[in-house]
Amino acid sequence: MKPIVIGNWKLNPTSLSLANTLYTDVQKGVARLRKVEVAVAPPMVFLSALAEKAKGKKTFLVAQDVFWEKLGAHTGEVSNAMLSSINVKHVIIGHSEVREQGETDDEVAKKVSATVKAGNTAIICVGEKERDDHGHYLALVEDQIRMALQGVPKTKLGNVAIAYEPIWAIGTGNTATAHDAHEMKLFIQKVLSDMFGRTALSKIRVLYGGSVNKKNAEELYTQGEVDGFLVGGASLKADNFIEVAKIVDRL
Ligand code: PEP
Repeated sequence: MKPIVIGNWKLNPTSLSLANTLYTDVQKGVARLRKVEVAVAPPMVFLSALAEKAKGKKTFLVAQDVFWEKLGAHTGEVSNAMLSSINVKHVIIGHSEVREQGETDDEVAKKVSATVKAGNTAIICVGEKERDDHGHYLALVEDQIRMALQGVPKTKLGNVAIAYEPIWAIGTGNTATAHDAHEMKLFIQKVLSDMFGRTALSKIRVLYGGSVNKKNAEELYTQGEVDGFLVGGASLKADNFIEVAKIVDRL
């Protein structure tokens, strides 16, 4: 599995024209990288226009969320089939900012199950609000993973990635240490191996997200031994994001 660097643009930028520029700049900057996959997750409303630009390009597109039903009376929602129809095959699910708006573990599970069934890839975000000395944060991450993957058959594990995003590190500048990231990667792999057997480990990437930028990416990648990054704030500056991708490509 190649490592992957994904930029989560969240509710940015403010117009399609700015989104076009950001996408084009990123695409130019990473066009020659061969050892890393690069993707960006723009707001839903920009996806189809950017999907036209992304045809045949290295930088592919990721949706920031998806609904579990295929069609029907679900105002405001977007389905996996709709995403696939514009060649968007990857979806972020369970981001802490969406969970914060009330998304439950059960809904995350339905979204994940619908996504892998549709042949798309679910990038499942997990992570604790805070750490404690008793390891409760580990139990919470384990629960999130077990719930999210409850409807995923072993044959679909290639359509899953886990992004460990400690909430205390998101948008705060408080990155987890490389040691924290590495410890959690091993823990997540243990949970996956308990659930599906060791072969799962060669199929599921474990990413880190939380204030990643061009300054901390090298240490987090080499010592954290993660399979890539989910980058928020720093992905809005093309040069910063390109540099993170270049670091992963080089290492
Ligand atoms: C994110 O939103 O997924 C994220 C990791 O944000 P940031 O890099 O800004 O912490």
